[in-house]
Amino acid sequence: MKRRPRSDKLADWDRMYLWHPFTQMREWERERPVIIERGKGPYLIDTDGRTYLDGVSSLWVNVHGHRHPSLDRAIRRQLTKIAHSTLLGLSNPPAILLARELIRLAPPGLTRVFYSDDGSTAVEVALKMAVQYWQQRVPRAGPKRTFVHLRLGYHGDTVGAVSVGGIDLFRKRFHSLLFPTIAADPPYCYRCPIGLSYPSCALACLEPIERILKQRHREIAGLIIEPLVQAAAGMLTAPPGYLKRIRELCTRYHVLLIADEVATGFGRTGRMFACDHEGVTPDLMAISKGLTGGYLPLAATLATEEIYRAFLGKYEEWKAFFHGHSYTGNPIGCAVALANLKVFRRERTLARMRARVSALSRLLRPLSRLAHVGDIRQRGYMVGIELVKDRATRAPYPLSDRLGHRVAMEARRRGLLIRPLGNVMVLMPPLATKIRELTRMVTTLHESIRTVTDS
Ligand SMILES: *Cc1c(COP(=O)(O)O)cnc(C)c1O
Repeated sequence: MKRRPRSDKLADWDRMYLWHPFTQMREWERERPVIIERGKGPYLIDTDGRTYLDGVSSLWVNVHGHRHPSLDRAIRRQLTKIAHSTLLGLSNPPAILLARELIRLAPPGLTRVFYSDDGSTAVEVALKMAVQYWQQRVPRAGPKRTFVHLRLGYHGDTVGAVSVGGIDLFRKRFHSLLFPTIAADPPYCYRCPIGLSYPSCALACLEPIERILKQRHREIAGLIIEPLVQAAAGMLTAPPGYLKRIRELCTRYHVLLIADEVATGFGRTGRMFACDHEGVTPDLMAISKGLTGGYLPLAATLATEEIYRAFLGKYEEWKAFFHGHSYTGNPIGCAVALANLKVFRRERTLARMRARVSALSRLLRPLSRLAHVGDIRQRGYMVGIELVKDRATRAPYPLSDRLGHRVAMEARRRGLLIRPLGNVMVLMPPLATKIRELTRMVTTLHESIRTVTDS
């Protein structure tokens, strides 16, 4: 009997044993999976030896490209010492050094680092810190325990993170598990919820948020936001000044500002953190995806000294923060995160990105002439291209048409791996991606949209 190629066997076993996230498995079982075995720079290589461009940084995590020698080395080096010990009752050098480095880089005023494992847990930590903070703060400030968040916002998939999430499809099934929150309309300028346009609107969309804070601040612990870009919503980019005003409102009404920088952090928007664009310091900041350069799961919640101090007290006052995970502060994760930050400095990643960000804007411009491209949104290396059925009326394609998926499949045939958000095509290349590869990514996306929408 002829031996079946290894990829066939792996594909069979995938379909037999695996359950993939956010995936209709019946459909998956009918398709042939791409099985990624290797990577190099912005490229991914599958078990058949086919090469693809990694157009979404392996789901928004990769920073300096795959197999970066410095990051690879950091992991190998740490392995000659220890793979893991705990931060409960002990400490370790990489966790200490990384915390110090993060505080140096973070918006001024954030002084403490609490580790966890992924974006969702970093958000859970921020929510719990906020609630416990208001209980322990002196003078007491009322039963502040609810949160304001934006519709279409996304903060992760654990129950607390879903509670402050704004994507109905992800919430609906779990409604009975979620705690009550207050939702406000997002700055979705292409489909402005109040029918105005920027800049003549003068950020009128902030008025309902101010009303909420004014009327209900006594019960509100915090406002959580994805600064500058609501990524999972379809790369919704907030107009300039929006974040700064949110900061001012939170300060005025004594509500903690929680910045979820999980997607925007580590250079993705062109600055180290999105908050840096508007000189904003949040009270709590969640980071994860790019923290390890896309190598290992690691996350952190950064807090101000003011919040940290509310947790100090005598042992039996029970003011400690009651939260922690088995792998908190994992030394390998922290070691590769340190190497990631070092590469930012040594390769001047952010400075070198600047010209490429402008080039990316130029490359994207011709796409706006396609008949079914409604809106192109870009902030740094975060790009969303919203496809519409009718450009004049901005009528969307029905989600069941799966247009985004079809374009992504077409792009895959042409050697570009991307994952759309509904009918928004997402491009989020590793920061190390050079103009030549950016050009190939955009050209491929252009051709794929044209082929699928027949325009
Ligand atoms: C991806 C993401 C999360 C969740 O992170 P996980 O690591 O997937 O748990 C939270 N917030 C934002 C803004 C994200 O993009």
